[in-house]
Amino acid sequence: MSKQKLGMQTICTHVGEIKDEQFKGAISPIYLSTSYEFDSVDIKRYPRYFNTPNQEHLSKKIAALEQAETAMIFGSGMAAISTMFLAFLKHGDHIVVQNTLYGGTSNFIREEFPKYGIEFTFTNSYNVSDFEAALQPNTKVIHIETPSNPLLTITDIRAIASLAKSKGIISTIDNTFASPINQNPITLGIDIVMHSATKYLGGHSDILAGAIACSQEHMDCIWNVAKNLGGSLSDFTVWMLERSMKTLGLRVKAQTKNAKKLAKFLEANPNVAHVYYPGLKSHPQRKLAKSQMKDFGAMLSFELVEGIDAMAFQKQLHLIKSSMSLAGVESTMLLPSETSHALLTQEQRDAVGISNRLIRFSVGIENFKDLKNDIEQAITKTKIASFAQA
Ligand SMILES: *Cc1c(COP(=O)(O)O)cnc(C)c1O
Repeated sequence: MSKQKLGMQTICTHVGEIKDEQFKGAISPIYLSTSYEFDSVDIKRYPRYFNTPNQEHLSKKIAALEQAETAMIFGSGMAAISTMFLAFLKHGDHIVVQNTLYGGTSNFIREEFPKYGIEFTFTNSYNVSDFEAALQPNTKVIHIETPSNPLLTITDIRAIASLAKSKGIISTIDNTFASPINQNPITLGIDIVMHSATKYLGGHSDILAGAIACSQEHMDCIWNVAKNLGGSLSDFTVWMLERSMKTLGLRVKAQTKNAKKLAKFLEANPNVAHVYYPGLKSHPQRKLAKSQMKDFGAMLSFELVEGIDAMAFQKQLHLIKSSMSLAGVESTMLLPSETSHALLTQEQRDAVGISNRLIRFSVGIENFKDLKNDIEQAITKTKIASFAQA
């Protein structure tokens, strides 16, 4: 059975299952042993070596989804990112990273790298020319995130991959926002793909996990560091993640379909000033997004018109929750200026285009009409409340 030929939904449902030979059960058994008898010194199974039966099998599903040679599962997205960087960067090396990164990644670089003597440059934009201009003779890694958080800008994956290849530099991407259902960077030339599996892979807001997919050669380097850093995931959670991922394709497709409709609905609404969604005709990089994504994803951002307070609006929502996290089956919103980007100064936020009115929307699987109604009633109530105050 060739994995490459299977469809995404079949991969989600079946690849990496552990056959229950003993009792013929329908789902993978869970192996919680931290100690395994070994027949040869080559195969020492131990959870921190990332090679328990459940860890090994789930890795096959993630590798198949990303069309990678191999994959590995971590205790969090940050464990995956930090291990990935430390596997390829040492004292005196340099990394070029995109300006708009997930806050935790950006903090990791700014706070930890100086301690290890690793140099870094944040680009000024997502333009490939900015990445090229930032390269130094000691640059070892280029790291990107697309679509970006929270403005959904698109970085040209193929161009970054070929720039890196031409200089012998490793290219890495945080593919969390798109999920493997909507974007497969390895097929576009990127060396290493990472995910916060806490988001779409888990999908139910009850799992903290991370994943990396790449070639066996790169994974050998990552594994050598990973076993020292110790960021492995417990087998119970690995098993939960496998069960969650069976519906990954269904969930993300439903979420993406909702996001497209909501983006159009918001853009047509006179109370909305701007919508950021790569699937909209008004998005300046729609063509680029279409050329590298299978679909446009389920994250969007928008700004209400001046006079409708974003915070007051959020408080009026019934169905859509205010939440820091994203990508669950339930729809959530947050104000980046108050949450994910609160640590930046107003000046820094202005520089990256994050206004105090910007609302990030992680679209769930609820019925479109219920989400639309919730937004409409919240806008109406916010307007009434502010007229009453005036
Ligand atoms: C959440 C997130 C991370 C960090 O993952 P954790 O599982 O919270 O450690 C990294 N990148 C992106 C884009 C994220 O959304």
